[in-house]
Amino acid sequence: MHPETNSDELHYRASLVYIYPTKLDNIESEKTKVDDNDSASVIEHVKYMIRSLRPECEMTEVLLELWDLAHETTHPIRRRKLQEINPLSINSWTSSRVTLLGDAIHAMSPLMGLGTNEAIQDADVLSQALLNYSPENHNACIKEYENEMIKRASASVLKSRAITLKEILPVGYFGFVIRNSALKFINFMLKVQNFIVNNIF
Ligand SMILES: Cc1cc2nc3c(=O)[nH]c(=O)nc-3n(C[C@H](O)[C@H](O)[C@H](O)COP(=O)(O)OP(=O)(O)OC[C@H]3O[C@@H](n4cnc5c(N)ncnc54)[C@H](O)[C@@H]3O)c2cc1C
Repeated sequence: MHPETNSDELHYRASLVYIYPTKLDNIESEKTKVDDNDSASVIEHVKYMIRSLRPECEMTEVLLELWDLAHETTHPIRRRKLQEINPLSINSWTSSRVTLLGDAIHAMSPLMGLGTNEAIQDADVLSQALLNYSPENHNACIKEYENEMIKRASASVLKSRAITLKEILPVGYFGFVIRNSALKFINFMLKVQNFIVNNIF
C-alpha cells in the first residue's frame, strides 16, 4: 500500500476487492448511486453494500474499517464489471495460425482461483500440440489445442460461476439462520476435539 523507500525493509502489497452480483444494482437508489471512477464514491458504495448485506457483528465492523483505510491507498479505487467468457458460448471459428489462451478466451470469476491455472494448462497443451508441427499441419495442431481448451476451460468457467452465485448472493433470513447454526456447530465440535486432544491424549 506504500511506495518502497528502503530495500532493507520488508514491504507488503494488499489488494482489496469487493464483488457482488450486478443484479443487486437493480435496487439502485439515491443511496447506491456510484461514480465508478471516483474513489470516495466507490468506497461509500462498498460500505453501503456491506452494511446492507452483512449482519451486524465484529467482522462487519472490521470490514468497514478496512474500507475506510482504502482512502489512503496509492492506487485509486475503481468499480469495474467482472466479465466472464464461456468459450463454449462463442460461435465456432476456423482454426488458423492465430489462437487465444488465458483470460482472452476464458475469463472467469476469480472465486475458485482457477484462471491462472487454466492459462498455464493452455500453454502446456498448446506447446504439446505444436510438438507435432509441420508446415502442412499447423492448423490441425492449433485445432487439437482449441478442442481440448474449449471443453476444459468452459467447465472451469461454469464451476466458478456456480460457486460465485452460491457464495455471494444474499442467503435470506432462513438461510442466514441455517448457515450460522452450522458454523456454530462446527466451531463447537472443533473445541470439543481440541479439548479431547489436549486433556485426554
Ligand atoms: C481479483 C482477482 C483474483 C484472482 N485470483 C486468482 C487466483 O487466486 N488464482 C488463479 O489461478 N487466478 C486468479 N485470478 C485470475 C488470473 O489473474 C487470470 O486468470 C490470469 O492473470 C490470466 O492470465 P492471462 O495471461 O491470460 O491474462 P493477463 O494476466 O490479464 O495478461 C494480459 C496482459 O496483456 C496486457 N495487454 C492487454 N492489452 C494489451 C495490448 N493492447 N498491448 C500489449 N499488452 C496488452 C495486459 O496489460 C496484461 O499484462 C484472479 C483474478 C482477479 C481479477
